[in-house]
Amino acid sequence: MTSFAPATTQQRDLLPQELLRTEPIEDLLETASLYLHIPFCHTRCYYCDFNTYAGILPLREPYVRALLHEIELAGLQARHPDGTPRRSRTIFFGGGTPSLLTVAQITRLLDTCRQAFALDSEAEITLEANPGTLSQEQLVGIREAGINRLSMGAQSYDAALLQKLGRIHNPDEITQAVQFARAAGFTSINLDFMFGLPDQTMQHWRETLDRALDLHPEHFSLYSLIIEEGTPFHQWVAEKRITPGDEDLCADMYEYADERLRAAGYINYEISNWALPGHHSRHNLTYWQNLPYIGMGAGASSFFGKKRYTDERDPQAYIKRLKSDEIPVIESESEEVDQAQAMSETAFLGLRTAMGLHLPTFERRFAQPFAQFVGDRLHIVDEAGLLEQVGDWLRLSQRGRLLGNEVFLRLLPD
Ligand code: SF4
Repeated sequence: MTSFAPATTQQRDLLPQELLRTEPIEDLLETASLYLHIPFCHTRCYYCDFNTYAGILPLREPYVRALLHEIELAGLQARHPDGTPRRSRTIFFGGGTPSLLTVAQITRLLDTCRQAFALDSEAEITLEANPGTLSQEQLVGIREAGINRLSMGAQSYDAALLQKLGRIHNPDEITQAVQFARAAGFTSINLDFMFGLPDQTMQHWRETLDRALDLHPEHFSLYSLIIEEGTPFHQWVAEKRITPGDEDLCADMYEYADERLRAAGYINYEISNWALPGHHSRHNLTYWQNLPYIGMGAGASSFFGKKRYTDERDPQAYIKRLKSDEIPVIESESEEVDQAQAMSETAFLGLRTAMGLHLPTFERRFAQPFAQFVGDRLHIVDEAGLLEQVGDWLRLSQRGRLLGNEVFLRLLPD
């Protein structure tokens, strides 16, 4: 059985208490975070493989009606045995481009969530939005409807790079969208940026972060470009028309961003996410703590009732199924999550976060100590200095953060 090396760095002590404090696991396992998928975009970005479509905007209203129906059905299904509605701590409107919905549509969706689930009065309610699709009036409307966090796909502050990605906005529209959001009363804003882009230099990356930091967003999500099969980028890489940034450049960009954001007061609480104190994404922490969530809308995934399942992907087929009162889950994509799998997933997801895995919570949840569960599977990576233990928490060491996959692979069920 492995016992883990004590921490040699102090970074963990810098984490604010709110990230370490959590409700009892028994209570959290009784909740369900809600994800609503909105699969509309003006155009498809060249790197995107999300379940989203251009050219189907006329489907918006029938789609919203279908989604309202699914929320009602899911709310009924998720009720406790005594008939009380399931508690929900977060709602996330993702896409696609949820900001392509009207204020009235977003309001109806939120009202239905409130009726079907017991939404916390302080619930975090996020809407993904794309600069270039947001008006001041719309932002005021969605803030009044109850959206209290905005997540914007900014991606780069370089106009040429934005064009190469197939994005519809320009850099000034990022600034304008944040200014509109502030004027509308948003006090929690995330900006997404990408690195490792074709032709992106360190200088581009520095300028992007400088301009972004001038806006004082509360949260950053920084992702390296992944070339997904079936996208135009995949084909262009094969044809050698574009070359993404190599591994070394990506590592340098990541390290630069981490240093820059930490110096500005942000906490790197998950591999790709940085937040000012109090502004970590509670919804995303639901995923990383392997807690239950119910995804609704075309292609949305759920983890609820010890099952993982996915909804019908095609928006037209999704609408049709709900018109005939059919639950839109694809049966072939529904799987029971057994105890061993749940333990592996909980460990792997927890280790992605800066806090790491809380060992007593793991033991309470699965009635087995983590050390007993892993046996000597992590011995090699622990010897290599990829893991460290601080009090009750097990986390990746500084070196382990760069080589996380070595650890994660060893946590897969046999
Ligand atoms: S806006 Fe987002 S979801 Fe839509 S195509 Fe671009 S990357 Fe994909």
